[in-house]
Amino acid sequence: MMLGKILVANRGEIAVRVMRACREMSIPCVAVYSEADRDALFVKYADEAFCIGPPPARASYLNIAKVIEVAKGCGAGAIHPGYGFLAENPEFARVCEKEGIKFIGPSSRVLALMGDKVAARREMRKAGVPVVPGADECITEFGPARDVAREIGYPVIIKPSGGGGGIGMTVVTREEELAGALKSSQAVATNTFGICDVYIEKYLPDPRHIEFQLLGDSKGNGIHLGERECSIQRRHQKLVEESPSPAVTASMRAEMGEIAAGAARFVGYEGAGTMEFLFSEGKFYFLEVNARVQVEHPVTEMVTGVDIVKEQIRIASGLPLGLRQEEVRMNGWALECRINAEDPLNEFAPSPGRIREYRPPGGPGVRVDDGVYVRYSIPPFYDPMISKVIVWGRDRMEAVSRMRRALYEYVILGIKNNLAFHRALMENPRFVKGELDTGFIERETGLLQETKRTMDEEAWLGKGWSSSSGDLKRIAAVSAVAALIRR
Ligand code: ADP
Repeated sequence: MMLGKILVANRGEIAVRVMRACREMSIPCVAVYSEADRDALFVKYADEAFCIGPPPARASYLNIAKVIEVAKGCGAGAIHPGYGFLAENPEFARVCEKEGIKFIGPSSRVLALMGDKVAARREMRKAGVPVVPGADECITEFGPARDVAREIGYPVIIKPSGGGGGIGMTVVTREEELAGALKSSQAVATNTFGICDVYIEKYLPDPRHIEFQLLGDSKGNGIHLGERECSIQRRHQKLVEESPSPAVTASMRAEMGEIAAGAARFVGYEGAGTMEFLFSEGKFYFLEVNARVQVEHPVTEMVTGVDIVKEQIRIASGLPLGLRQEEVRMNGWALECRINAEDPLNEFAPSPGRIREYRPPGGPGVRVDDGVYVRYSIPPFYDPMISKVIVWGRDRMEAVSRMRRALYEYVILGIKNNLAFHRALMENPRFVKGELDTGFIERETGLLQETKRTMDEEAWLGKGWSSSSGDLKRIAAVSAVAALIRR
């Protein structure tokens, strides 16, 4: 039987995304929110909404007891954790299990296993997955660190075992730097993740980041929905994602997809998840499993037609997967740009604040997942993502052209954002050719100059324009003239 009422323990665009699935499935949805999110779109969208505390995440979105109390109080039988916050917290899943509330995601056992990256590496090796050469144990002392690094050869990368978001990762090119890097990585790990455990891997020079979308159900089925490429990153954080990957052939997809899906079956994986790989010199190396729905899941939805959030809800309801591996078809090409409230010209520093004008793009093949609206103030306490623009095309070039068109239509005024940066990226000849790797943005310094040029033009054109009028025609005219000048 399908789940009754779902509490969404998250905020922003992903909370709206999950509730959209609930609405289509006629399942009532409940929002929990912090005092900073009273006016947020997801709070308005929900059937019921409860304030759970002050702005800092620790006091609200990460407050397990409070979230559980609200779920019980309003009769929600299940909790969807979204991504981030409590999504991969085994303790939270355990409390849900104990309280008889269905956690929409893998079991606390699988979460604990995958959350410990070193344990996950060991487990995946057992399941026959190729892993990045490196230590199979956490490293605390300099001696063992030096031995591992000598064995695999420099450069190496030190990574927090409980980490995420690229935080605390340090690349070491020479033995003389190792001791200092080990200390600093351990310090960051302790401060950010509460545990000092770090491990060492071979640092692959400018690999591609390629990941497989997985689905597993409670009946032991496990399938993959093909790959996504997420090589366009800054500071090891993804900015643009696509599916399929320009580097993956049908036979590679079949082989790696089966290895990934086989590993999901091996660990008894229930729900949606992602197996991340680095791809270097024609070889795949396991990086980690993200045991949740990911920011970039829509590109997979666009090419496969599978609603991943609905599948999560079906699986959590005890139903078998909605499709078999041989029914998965990848059709066309999808691209996603993450639109953030940040300043590309100031090292992408977050730039929260009030949105004066807002007009998302539309038309054929365009999807916008957002959590904002005109005159909404983006609070400074959380991730500065405004939205995701996802486009579909019959092939990669059509998807790129569509993304250019969608970005051109998109109007966000009042806060700094990275629209101009994405526009520059979509014109970059190497990007257009699909020559991607994780060092791309750092190397293509011309992107920032191009971004600055666009931003200057638009600032000049916008001068004297009364933003409070809300006259969308004039906004469109401003961006149209800007586009003409650019030509
Ligand atoms: P996190 O969970 O913090 O995001 P990941 O292990 O997923 O960390 O790595 C994030 C990104 O860091 C990768 O996509 C890649 O760009 C870079 N990276 C991580 N490990 C390596 C490695 N061994 N060699 C080269 N780059 C790496």
